[in-house]
Amino acid sequence: MADLYQLSSASLDALFAALTADGRRILAPTEADGRSELNPVTRPDQVAKDYLQTTLSAKETVFPKVERLLSYTQAPGQVDLVDAEPHAVPTVLFGIRPCEASAFAALDAVFNWDYRDKFFNARLEQLSVIGVSCARRDDACFCTAVGGGPGATKGSDILLTPMAGGYLAEVLTDKGRAIQALAPDLFQPTSGVDKAALLANVPTAFDQPALTAKLPALFDSPLWSEQSLRCVGCGACAFVCPTCVCFDIQEEADKTGGRRLRAWDSCGYHMFTLHASGHNPRETQGARWRQRIYHKFSYYPERYGQLGCVGCGKCTRACPVDMNLQEHLVEASQVNP
Ligand code: SF4
Ligand code: SF4
Repeated sequence: MADLYQLSSASLDALFAALTADGRRILAPTEADGRSELNPVTRPDQVAKDYLQTTLSAKETVFPKVERLLSYTQAPGQVDLVDAEPHAVPTVLFGIRPCEASAFAALDAVFNWDYRDKFFNARLEQLSVIGVSCARRDDACFCTAVGGGPGATKGSDILLTPMAGGYLAEVLTDKGRAIQALAPDLFQPTSGVDKAALLANVPTAFDQPALTAKLPALFDSPLWSEQSLRCVGCGACAFVCPTCVCFDIQEEADKTGGRRLRAWDSCGYHMFTLHASGHNPRETQGARWRQRIYHKFSYYPERYGQLGCVGCGKCTRACPVDMNLQEHLVEASQVNP
């Protein structure tokens, strides 16, 4: 049960100052060239005023696009290996939406499944999330079909819901209470606020449990090839996605040494899962598109007990050829195996 408070708009200045004085980096959506992205800020007036979502996701704060895992130097008869150590800065993510806040659980499921990833965990430990509920939505949003909602609290340490004069503040976790303790006077206890009335209305677009249940029987359906016909394989959908976690390990080396890097991969790429032998078990764009859907809606629930999609719609907004994930899922829901 969250502790409920009211936070005035004016008090955000003092909250940001308290976070900064505590040595925390604040990342928040800022506006430039007509789009919003997460950038370091120190004052609330630097935060974008009227954003729906950032184009890129917040996953880079815990899972960078490229990460050095180790490096080495070599000379005749000798190799010296240096393990890389994670660089984690105390960070507050301010203003991400509830869908994105909930996406850290999907990343955590992979990075702490059969191996505890020290890079991911070091950054997650240093991360606190002050989410902001959604008072509006667009056609790409489908959080309510995948267990979320415009005011869902999962993943936020504090969730702010905009209301007249400021915010309804739900302090949800120990990390949230630690932030509150930096400026306790700013949080005024409140009750009786009708939170639901402050939120966007996001209709439930499809029956996800029913879709997940029938996906195994749809594996050989021509649907996936048909849906993928216009995909150009740019990989953008995976790069903007807050839950996409596929990566590749690459080596850069010369005769004096080298380094091993972990870099984001995308199931959109034609070389995705290409074996060294030349064989690719997912040879066509249709097979790769099917993998994208099945990974998020079948394999994830089977393996981790949760979905690999939070319905944020970033992939749909970023796609250059209008591959609309929600429309494709609705269509799959209507197909009989
Ligand atoms: S963003 Fe669109 S075109 Fe690019 S890989 Fe994804 S689905 Fe295909
Ligand atoms: S697949 Fe698309 S809608 Fe789902 S979490 Fe990723 S970007 Fe968001």
